[in-house]
Amino acid sequence: EKWVYLFDEGRGDMKDLLGGKGANLAEMTLLGLPVPPGFIVTTQACNAFLAAGNRFPEGLWEQELAALRKLEKRMGRSLGDPENALLVSCRSGAKLSMPGMMDTLLNLGLNDAVAEGLVAETGDARFAYDAYRRLVQMFGTVVLGLPGEPFERVLEEYRRQRGLENDAALPAEDLEAITRAFQHLIREKSGRDFPQEPLEQLRLATEAVFRSWNGKRARDYRDAAGIPHDLGTAVNIVTMVFGNRGEDSGTGVVTTRNVSTGEREMEGDYLSNAQGEDVVSGTRPTLRISALKERHPKLYAQLARYCQKLERHFRDVQDVEFTIEQGKLWMLQTRDAKRTAQAAVRIAVELVREKLINRKQAVLRVKPEQIDFFLHPQFAPADKQAARDRGDLLATGLNVSPGAASGVVALDADTAERWSKEEKKAVIMVRPETRPDDVHGMLAAQGILTSRGGRTSHAALVARQFGKPAVVGVSELEVDCEKRQLTVAGRVIREGDTLSIDGTTGEVFAGPLETVIPDLKDEYILELLRWADGFRTLGVYANADYPHDAERARQLGSEGIGLCRTEHMFFEKDRLPHVQRMILARTEEERDEALATLLPFQRKDFLGLFRVMDGQPVTIRLIDPPLHEFLPNHDVLLHDVTELETRLELLEGRHEAKGLEEKLAQKRSLLEAVESMREANPMLGLRGVRLGIHLPALVRMQVRAIFEAACRCTREGVHVFPKVMIPLIAHSNELRVEKELLEAEARAVMEEQGVEVEYQFGTMIEIPRAAIIADQLAREAEFFSFGTNDLTQTTYGISRDDAETGFLSEYLQKRILPENPFATLDQRGVGALMELAVRLGRQTRPKLDLGICGEHGGDPKTIAFCHRLGLDYVSCSPYRVPIARLAAAHAAL
Ligand code: ADP
Ligand code: MG
Ligand code: MG
Repeated sequence: EKWVYLFDEGRGDMKDLLGGKGANLAEMTLLGLPVPPGFIVTTQACNAFLAAGNRFPEGLWEQELAALRKLEKRMGRSLGDPENALLVSCRSGAKLSMPGMMDTLLNLGLNDAVAEGLVAETGDARFAYDAYRRLVQMFGTVVLGLPGEPFERVLEEYRRQRGLENDAALPAEDLEAITRAFQHLIREKSGRDFPQEPLEQLRLATEAVFRSWNGKRARDYRDAAGIPHDLGTAVNIVTMVFGNRGEDSGTGVVTTRNVSTGEREMEGDYLSNAQGEDVVSGTRPTLRISALKERHPKLYAQLARYCQKLERHFRDVQDVEFTIEQGKLWMLQTRDAKRTAQAAVRIAVELVREKLINRKQAVLRVKPEQIDFFLHPQFAPADKQAARDRGDLLATGLNVSPGAASGVVALDADTAERWSKEEKKAVIMVRPETRPDDVHGMLAAQGILTSRGGRTSHAALVARQFGKPAVVGVSELEVDCEKRQLTVAGRVIREGDTLSIDGTTGEVFAGPLETVIPDLKDEYILELLRWADGFRTLGVYANADYPHDAERARQLGSEGIGLCRTEHMFFEKDRLPHVQRMILARTEEERDEALATLLPFQRKDFLGLFRVMDGQPVTIRLIDPPLHEFLPNHDVLLHDVTELETRLELLEGRHEAKGLEEKLAQKRSLLEAVESMREANPMLGLRGVRLGIHLPALVRMQVRAIFEAACRCTREGVHVFPKVMIPLIAHSNELRVEKELLEAEARAVMEEQGVEVEYQFGTMIEIPRAAIIADQLAREAEFFSFGTNDLTQTTYGISRDDAETGFLSEYLQKRILPENPFATLDQRGVGALMELAVRLGRQTRPKLDLGICGEHGGDPKTIAFCHRLGLDYVSCSPYRVPIARLAAAHAAL
């Protein structure tokens, strides 16, 4: 088997085998860009190594050696030759990029003799020992798994003695001494020597990179990013180039566009006289890439040209690593850049305008969930201004990942995770800088704040990828992890105090700030959604009960109301007493009187809704919940009655008792009524259509209100299309009886009013039996709407009101259920019933109108499923409408 590929043997489309980094190094080589030569050990070799209990598969080491020989020949240098040494890096690189999550070693091939040789060759002892000490340090932490702090402490001590801020300024003799100290540390902590034999270094480094695939932080990252655990990592062996050879050398990271906003400008960080991780680790203050333009305009122009070329070639924004060695530019990595939702949308739209991709590709490049960001809370401008006026604006840093977040300060990842998960607190994780093993804390936090690091720092990268608001590089911020506090602008903020960060502007505020949901007005998202609308075949409706919800939904692009829950209208203060009177009525007359009072209220509700929905269908569900929900709580009533009884006993027939007696009688009759309505399983009890059959006057009133409002609107010139929806049908007779009653009422109203309204009667499918007899139901029903909340509840036999706080979460934790069926539709079970209902329903009535109105209607996976089922539309909450529009387009493409 071929385990090893030279760069010029690979190609960009071989990411499965060569990993993303390796495949793109090969592709850049093909494109003629200056890539230091090297070779790639395949992901399959990694998988074979891990499967065999961490042993090299047969032939791998021989192939690695052969490739190394070729590399040596090509470079005219050889590994371990003090006179003419080849140095290499050994870099991880999986198919999907996992920035910083796995390991990389630089400067392999150095040992005591080679270091001396390098001094002689370059005449630069500082450089040679800077490279050597880095190798020993990385070898200790990465290969031997030693903690990093002791190494850092040594460096710190030398810096302190010299009164220096950064390592780059340490003199050669210090770096040499540091190298020895590191070697000593390794011997002391691991009981073995730093290997002087370069081939041994290479072999151990390869193994370490393989193993890092299964490191904790890599696993956590994959879990969060939904990357499978069985891909394995490739290992890239790359000839070293040196950014740490003085002031005309350096290293940097750029994205070909601004990945926070999507603006078309190169964006990134640069550090002179530095190597590798220095830029991303945030340990030294970096320069904006524009600094390179001032210092080395020619190199900058060259870099910009390469970036352009890469962007055109890959047809996407790239994230590029480069190093300059004594005035010569080298390209070390390119990949599709991670970006914020905002940038993703703008970039996709602009790439279409630049003719690099087509509309379909652009639509597919934005994930439906990313749209959510545009409707994410932002700080209310007035509240922000008030905070500024109060002097609560503490500092401004780099706005690397947009969005607003308030929460309590947690100063390490474990605390952030604990507070968020166990104490359900909103947390802002604050660190001097973040490291790959902080990822679990960053994921748990609402927002991230660091005092160091640039736009391409680890914190920024991870925050952007997971859509967490982040502000980094707030240099005025002093983070004291020992004293557990921050100092900024002369104020001390303790761990546990509340901070607010605005990742869109980079501002940091003391205390909490109020948030608002912004309008969807970004020019790029509107354009992208228009394109999406052109591709989708599924309609997108909204669930809305009130005119202002309906208005919001229309603004966000919905094409109708898929569910208006009429009972919400009954709960309002001015109506509830009449509703209760209606429920408690002892005679027909009493009930009719109460209903007559309710009629104008209902009519007004529908008038408002119809006017807003002019020209679009409005699906109105008749009353659904059990009646006891409109009455006072049983236990509260019981308590009141008992209390009144005791008080009366104490008063013993005194004058004041009179009023109390009346009150008691009233409460007693309420209690009696509630007790008589008590059901063991109210959700399976007198509700939905059953209630309509039990209290025909109630639903007749609702239908009258709907049609009186519809007739009036029609006269006003508003175009109405009411769809009356009967809930909880299980038997076709229920539907037949109910529809007869209601349609008669509707016709009566239209005759009275002398107006004809276009309308439909239909049913919800939310009990398994309804799905099974859908052919019978379709004889009466002109539309079906899948009420997947109830349908899931009744199919699974799991109460949705109790399960999510109880055993269901245990099931999910133990992976008894792969997913929460109330969040993502259970396609195998509930979905099969839907499929059956679609087939049977259309068998009876080919033009049967089909939709879904459960919570699932806004879930992209469920939307794709509904598309496959051939539904006409999905209906979801107004804020999910744009997400659904994009998801429906994805389903169609
Ligand atoms: P990561 O995936 O964490 O970015 P990399 O393998 O890309 O890890 O390497 C870490 C750092 O070392 C990067 O900044 C990279 O540019 C630098 N680096 C890797 N190989 C070389 C090399 N051959 N010469 C110079 N710098 C290198
Ligand atoms: Mg890299
Ligand atoms: Mg229901």
